[in-house]
Amino acid sequence: MSRTLDLELISLTKRYGDTVAVDAISYHFTAGTYACLLGPSGCGKSSTLRMIAGHEAVSDGAITLGGRDISHLPPAKRGTAMMFQNYALFPHLTVRDNVGFSLKMQGIDAAKQRTRAGEMLELVDMTALADRLPAQLSGGQQQRAALARALITEPEVLLLDEPLSALDPFLRVRMRTELKKLQRELGITFVHVTHGQDEALALADEIVVMNAAKIEQAGKTRAVFDAPQTAFVARFLGSHNVVSMPGGMVAIRSDALRITPAGTARLPGTITSIEYQGTHVALTAAVPGDQEVTAVLSDRDFFDDPKNPGEAIGLDWEAEAAHALAG
Ligand code: ADP
Ligand code: MG
Repeated sequence: MSRTLDLELISLTKRYGDTVAVDAISYHFTAGTYACLLGPSGCGKSSTLRMIAGHEAVSDGAITLGGRDISHLPPAKRGTAMMFQNYALFPHLTVRDNVGFSLKMQGIDAAKQRTRAGEMLELVDMTALADRLPAQLSGGQQQRAALARALITEPEVLLLDEPLSALDPFLRVRMRTELKKLQRELGITFVHVTHGQDEALALADEIVVMNAAKIEQAGKTRAVFDAPQTAFVARFLGSHNVVSMPGGMVAIRSDALRITPAGTARLPGTITSIEYQGTHVALTAAVPGDQEVTAVLSDRDFFDDPKNPGEAIGLDWEAEAAHALAG
């Protein structure tokens, strides 16, 4: 069931009165990509997703799918489907009827609805629970039902708004794995909104980092993580140090820092804390300019030459590990 339609946002803008929630963002989602929109609360992620889904009017710009402008089509005619944060299942309908609902709306006959709903429930491993009401399901099961309901329309693009946020941490990681597996099996584009960097890194082929209504940086997940272009992106993704040096601000990954004897490295530092984290050790040091940096060392590297708070050290890195930052 491989699909070929690319989704494109062209100067897409959303205004609510005087608030600019989404400010002329442009991005090309290649068909079959698992993409995450990542950013802090209020940066415009949900507004972007709702405009793609057709649940929110576009103020300016356009959305195209396979080159066709879908900006003004009703949700059911776009080739997109949305899964909501709270799943929005109908409480009085069984799982099967929830899943078949959009086919019923399209006037498809009852036997066909049942067959298709059954196939979708099979896909998300919910066949045994088809006759239950939503209140009789766990959070993870409700999520599967909501997924089946969204997928029954055979969308080119599945839109997911913080789909894992209602789940406990254990289930969140499990469902994360299932979402990724499902996306691979279906071969369609997933656009998944999250404010969690770990979730985005775990899932996304491509990551779109948003801040204050704009795209701060976007691209292949590893490329963005390896080379953040702004201090905001480096800090938001985590595992990076943002350091002001004489030549300007740079981002250096915590795992790219090396500890050397005092007086022998680019940065002199004084250890302020050491945290044992099992597989690795996080060593934090005060460095010139009233700043702190964190180096993450392998368990072995640290214990081959253990250090203590208060010790003077040097901090060094390969030249290509430091990325100059704008802003
Ligand atoms: P996110 O999903 O990243 O948290 P939203 O897209 O929900 O961000 O919101 C972006 C901005 O738009 C916020 O400032 C929010 O308060 C505002 N906003 C969202 N929805 C509405 C609305 N229906 N009416 C007015 N302002 C809104
Ligand atoms: Mg939101």
